[in-house]
Amino acid sequence: MTKTDFGGIFTAALELNGLSAYVSLADEFEKLTEELVKFNVHTNITAVRSTEDIIMKHYVDSLTAAEFIEGNRIIDIGCGGGFPTLPLALARRDVHITALDSTAKKLTFVDQCKKIFDLNIETLCARAEDAGRGKLRQTFTGATARAVAALNILCELALPLIKNGGLFIAMKGPGADEETAAAENAIQILGGKLEDAKTILLKTPGGETLTRTLVFIRKTRPTPDKYPRVYGQILKKPF
Ligand code: SAM
Repeated sequence: MTKTDFGGIFTAALELNGLSAYVSLADEFEKLTEELVKFNVHTNITAVRSTEDIIMKHYVDSLTAAEFIEGNRIIDIGCGGGFPTLPLALARRDVHITALDSTAKKLTFVDQCKKIFDLNIETLCARAEDAGRGKLRQTFTGATARAVAALNILCELALPLIKNGGLFIAMKGPGADEETAAAENAIQILGGKLEDAKTILLKTPGGETLTRTLVFIRKTRPTPDKYPRVYGQILKKPF
């Protein structure tokens, strides 16, 4: 991959999707791609391989949430190898991001990038439902999560961690409407309110369209003490 290849595709992808504000970060995203490809040789953190796919499916997709983040202390639940954490951390240096995942080896990559890019993030190797019962309960101004669980389950992982007034942005693919309808009870019981759902048709430089939906859930009341339950119970009896 030459510099022109990356910069050209990155710029085109951002401009096609109303994200031109981040074009100036092309060099950092190119370096991130080099690190991701190198790391992926020994530790599998992504199945996405081509430059255009990495740009579209990891960077552009993650960046769609950047402008909607509220407050200065968010948690990315189930960040895996760092998505959306890393693109958001490059685009929003004003926001501190706790990158949470239960798999330590994926967080190694996030820690490595924190050092390279001097990012305003910290990693936390834990299960979200354990974190939601501990000292981080109801302390974040917001949360993000992508590709972690169905929304009715995800709400029990995310909402206990967010303080009143905070915003949970669930990043969903096709099927978001059905998931959102099925999560109505969970949102209500856990102290949230469905605020909006924004469907975005991402255009690739190759001419494809990818459907994504950002589901915005506002924390309006404290989460009752008995939630989150242990993961086995959440799965066995989702709301
Ligand atoms: N968000 C990343 C992305 O979009 O590329 C990773 C998605 S990966 C499919 C799902 C991640 O969620 C895994 O890394 C897994 O370890 C993590 N995960 C699932 N349930 C979790 C939980 N209850 N607590 C913490 N991490 C969890």
